[in-house]
Amino acid sequence: MTILSQPTVFADRHIGARRDADIAHMLKAVGYDSVDSLVDTAVPDSIRQATPLALQPALSEVEVLAELRGLAAKNKTAVQLIGQGYYDTVTPAVIRRNILESPAWYTAYTPYQPEISQGRLEALLNFQTMVSDLTALPVANASLLDEATAVAEAVLLMRRANKAKGAADAKTVLDADLLPQTIAVVRGRAEALGFEVEVADLALGLPDGDINGIVLQQPGVSGRVFNHAPVIAAAKERGALVTVAADLLALTVITAPGEQGADIAVGTAQRFGVPLFFGGPHAAYMAVRKGMERSLPGRIVGVSADSTGLPAYRLALQTREQHIRREKATSNICTAQALLAIVASMYAVYHGPAGLKAIAETVHGHALTLAAALQSSGIEVLHTSFFDTLTVRVPGRAGAVVELAERDGINLRPIDADHVGISLDETTTADIVARVAAAFGAAPAGDGTDHGTGAAFALAADTLRTSDYLSHPIFNTHRSETQLLRYIRRLSDRDLALDRTMIPLGSCTMKLNATAEMEAISWPGFASIHPFAPDSQTVGWRELIAGLEADLCEITGYDQVSLQPNAGSQGELAGLLAIRGYHLSRGDVQRTICLIPQSAHGTNAASAVLAGMKVVVVGTAGDGAIDRADLAAKIEAHKDQLAAIMITYPSTHGVYDADVREVCEEVHAAGGQVYVDGANLNALVGLAQPGKFGGDVSHLNLHKTFCIPHGGGGPGVGPVAAKAHLAPFMPGDANAAAGTGSMLPISASRFGSAGVLPISWAYVKLMGGQGLTEATKSALLAANYIAAQLDAHFPVLYTGAGELVAHECILDLRELTAKTGVTAEDVAKRLIDYGFHAPTLSFPVAGTLMVEPTESEDLGEINRFITAMVSIRQEIDQVADGAFTLADSPLRNAPHTAASLITSDWDRGYPREQGAFPVDSLRQDKYFPPVGRIDGAAGDRNLVCSCPPIEDFAADFTN
Ligand SMILES: *Cc1c(COP(=O)(O)O)cnc(C)c1O
Repeated sequence: MTILSQPTVFADRHIGARRDADIAHMLKAVGYDSVDSLVDTAVPDSIRQATPLALQPALSEVEVLAELRGLAAKNKTAVQLIGQGYYDTVTPAVIRRNILESPAWYTAYTPYQPEISQGRLEALLNFQTMVSDLTALPVANASLLDEATAVAEAVLLMRRANKAKGAADAKTVLDADLLPQTIAVVRGRAEALGFEVEVADLALGLPDGDINGIVLQQPGVSGRVFNHAPVIAAAKERGALVTVAADLLALTVITAPGEQGADIAVGTAQRFGVPLFFGGPHAAYMAVRKGMERSLPGRIVGVSADSTGLPAYRLALQTREQHIRREKATSNICTAQALLAIVASMYAVYHGPAGLKAIAETVHGHALTLAAALQSSGIEVLHTSFFDTLTVRVPGRAGAVVELAERDGINLRPIDADHVGISLDETTTADIVARVAAAFGAAPAGDGTDHGTGAAFALAADTLRTSDYLSHPIFNTHRSETQLLRYIRRLSDRDLALDRTMIPLGSCTMKLNATAEMEAISWPGFASIHPFAPDSQTVGWRELIAGLEADLCEITGYDQVSLQPNAGSQGELAGLLAIRGYHLSRGDVQRTICLIPQSAHGTNAASAVLAGMKVVVVGTAGDGAIDRADLAAKIEAHKDQLAAIMITYPSTHGVYDADVREVCEEVHAAGGQVYVDGANLNALVGLAQPGKFGGDVSHLNLHKTFCIPHGGGGPGVGPVAAKAHLAPFMPGDANAAAGTGSMLPISASRFGSAGVLPISWAYVKLMGGQGLTEATKSALLAANYIAAQLDAHFPVLYTGAGELVAHECILDLRELTAKTGVTAEDVAKRLIDYGFHAPTLSFPVAGTLMVEPTESEDLGEINRFITAMVSIRQEIDQVADGAFTLADSPLRNAPHTAASLITSDWDRGYPREQGAFPVDSLRQDKYFPPVGRIDGAAGDRNLVCSCPPIEDFAADFTN
């Protein structure tokens, strides 16, 4: 026996195939004698980086956690009463541990394969139902990125939907009482698209002129709650559409936007149990009135039926709509905030309507008590009708009051020299109320039941909610912790996530989300920090962020990184806006054409349109690379208007185009900028740097390459990285003092989804430069091993130098489909019977599967996948040979539920054993999907996007 004298290196845990014998086996199959020779052949010399990554040497898990503890300790927690869209909340421990911290939930992928996603789809449907009920609007989506960007999406939706005469050129009016970051984000979008935005106090009525749509906030940032019905009616009278940004907790006691005539409601579900997270990730929501559902951005969960007619959930309408509609897509949002929406929905499931209302009334009661205390000491409270937020006038004393409160561990909102904002929340106690009063020099108030003198303060009678909400049994059943625990477990058991199987999704990089990387995110030192807390309280956060930015610069070869974008799509938009800002700064106002290769991810085109650019598509050559002749022609045709090209590298065809440098040079020569979509960075880290081989700007997906879990469709972080000449055009900070750059923000908070950044920070520290580089090489080896093993069964569509692929490969089923009728979808569904999540289906080439194993899968799991695919190929051959017809085959009837197999009248052309256990190992470890194949089209024809009527689900509640 040898005793291990060396401590375990983290990279050995992160990388799946680390044993020499395994590596040798894989190399042999690919035909190389060393990983380096494989890598040297696959990756073009012209882009290889000359020197290894200069990062800090790898740390152990123990060391990284110690460093993170040190950083957390440099942040100062406080009683967070700043408000402005962010509230402290109690995350019920049962939800924190069993969802937020549970890999069954956080390692899941977006539910494009609905049969293995019924659990998270149900939770998201609960979210939609909750939003729809509280806002009194019939159709809600399954989350957006943050409140400010949700308002921007609503403004764009109004501009698309308002078909009244002159509406297209009319202005958008924002109420002055909107959150400041919302106004800033909307201004940024409007600037790029060239429409007018006016900010006005809508409590005083509408401004003159043609109005496309208005946005109100209830309650406003000042806390004021007033009856919106008259101004909404006036706006409609003038042909405008209406959006209300509303606080979900307040809506349990005040009239819902839908009841006041709003067309759209938006907001955040953060205070439903999601930590402050220094600004995010939080789930934003959007709900619309009937008739607008088909232009609703983001994903919508709908109820459809499976092959046996059982109700089943699936994503409706917009599923992957960017890939289909591209530059005509309704929005560029792809990754949203599924995990946080699920947390918020469970908070509502747990508390129910009465519980939520009780929380709201307690918060409101504290606000009334505080207002009364201040007023009785002669301190002016500006509005008499409020929910949880007060604006207090203290002429010349605001700074002193805020400072006094801070010394007592309480953060208030400094508005200006004369005004202070106070937002109370679920965690507010009578003691806190007394301490806040004291900071203002007011006498302590009563005990929380004494709401002061007379009716000086009260929610205006015409704003009180009278309608019911959350009456569906799902919000009225799981009151005990045992019940909720089992409900959460029951749902997650219906799903396949990374904790049960590899998820070989090309382009999505579903790799290990190490537990040690995840640990810090719920520590109070990180999670309980308000995004607008004074800088003196966020030293640790900013040190972590600056460190990660520097590491990402080193990895990508760019000069500056902004972590603000909340997803890849937002990084794309930020990067394109930087290019736009650059051209404008040089007087090149006519440069608005964006070249995008055919194979690009759909978000690219949608983002270009949002950046005010016009998309021109560049064709693909026979080998999958960019068609150089077509590129030259398009550059020539648009030379003077060329703004940019957006290329993905390595391309979504899974190969390293050898001529990428020349492509970049040609575009540069014509005066254009090069955007490199960095979603495939997992094939580059340590080997090549987009900032060095021709890119001017890129986005990265930290939820792909840098280990932030996918969360079932978010959170994500899509940092934008740029060369120095674009640095002045990076996203600005909505709340920063003037003079910090000319650009408007791309997200509500300065560092976007800061809360999940410790994951990527830890990943880089744990791996070090060498470990990261080895991970890339291992990802290449794994992809090439799969390509080599499966090519004889499913031809690999594109290969590069040495017949090698990059970190993913496309398996072409089109010929098999033509011959047998078996589709790529049949294969995807049949893989479920083998216990696998399907690879990426029909992107970027219809009729294909794109497989990306990542470096984290071990040889055993990769072989299990290969065995399944080979076995499926044999079943396809059985169809070809006439052993059974396609309709009667295990392929077309996949996936098989337990119920479909355990039936007394089995009459299929194949034995049940083949249906359930096509390979023997399944007899031990078998996943049965809860529903059979789902009919997508039927669900779209008859759109149901809230919890279905009770009778359908009666069985759930009667035992
Ligand atoms: C995932 C992906 C995107 C979009 O990223 P999101 O985080 O989902 O918005 C863009 N381009 C490519 C190539 C991708 O794979």
